[in-house]
Amino acid sequence: MRYVKISPENTYEFLSRLKGMGTLYAPSKISEQFYDFQEVDDVKDVEFDYHRTIRPPRRFFYPVEETMFTFDTHKVELKEKLPRKERVILFGVHNCDIVALRIMDAEFLDEQPDPYYQIRRQNGIIIGLSCMPDEYCFCNVRRIEFVDAGFDLFFHELPDGFLVRVGTVTGHKLIDPNMDLFSEVSKKDVDNISEFERKKADAFKVKGNWDDLRYLLELRMDHPMYEREADKCLGCGNCTLTCPTCRCYDVKDKPSIDGRTGERIRFWDSCQFRTHGLVAGGHNFRETKQDRFYNRYQCKNAYCPETTTAYCVGCGRCTYFCPADIQFRSNLMEIGGYQEVKK
Ligand code: SF4
Ligand code: SF4
Repeated sequence: MRYVKISPENTYEFLSRLKGMGTLYAPSKISEQFYDFQEVDDVKDVEFDYHRTIRPPRRFFYPVEETMFTFDTHKVELKEKLPRKERVILFGVHNCDIVALRIMDAEFLDEQPDPYYQIRRQNGIIIGLSCMPDEYCFCNVRRIEFVDAGFDLFFHELPDGFLVRVGTVTGHKLIDPNMDLFSEVSKKDVDNISEFERKKADAFKVKGNWDDLRYLLELRMDHPMYEREADKCLGCGNCTLTCPTCRCYDVKDKPSIDGRTGERIRFWDSCQFRTHGLVAGGHNFRETKQDRFYNRYQCKNAYCPETTTAYCVGCGRCTYFCPADIQFRSNLMEIGGYQEVKK
């Protein structure tokens, strides 16, 4: 892997140059508490110190709603509406969200590639950014607090700039014509990175790994946590809509007023909605709130075979944005018998 260094001033200049190569999105503060990836207008608005965005990066490749094709019943004609090949550059993606995108790739691109996702993803550039965990983060127990793949460039915070790892050929192509902005990495920089990673490891509230959790969740299906916590759940779907790895969608046809043409759209669905398990004839495979609640805990802790990571990457969004204050991580710890680290 190639490593280079960039100063804070040159980072802003680099971001300005990236703007000339496509549409640049980066974390931005959108309210007192919330951050989101926003299109960059002024590079000085880019937020380097944030924990999680309200909307996960998957939305750039798998939008909340999209038209798959239009139809005309009189002509018995379908016209596929594939996305345009537009370059999207995502700057400031944390390790958990990078792994989440790899999970999405495994789901949408393996075996039967989804052309809508594929076109957008092929035109996406991912630039990672290091982070310090807050009390909601637990990517470490998923063993992904440091990523080796899934990014074109990765920016690691230094006291005087960033150490940049180059992850792909695209990453080299971003660096090479801009070498006037980068310098060699010094021994001091390496010591600083090593210290940063040690501080990061210490900052997590939980330690070890939760590899046995998927079995324990199955073996403790009747654990009282489910009834107690499902009772508080509002079924709002915030936990799934903010999750970087949720991928359930529904499709529906929207007819036009002319009675012959229309479009088929797909849109994000949530297993926490009552209608998610409802099928023709009125049967519901997940009739009760507790059924739906239980399903999410099982789904998120199963393993994605291609990445060998749980479908939950420990970003903390589902707890942070839950209006009923349901603590996903604490509930998992109760099932797994794990303890918080005492400081
Ligand atoms: S965000 Fe909280 S209240 Fe809403 S569905 Fe998820 S667990 Fe239930
Ligand atoms: S389940 Fe919760 S903590 Fe895990 S990836 Fe989804 S939003 Fe993040």
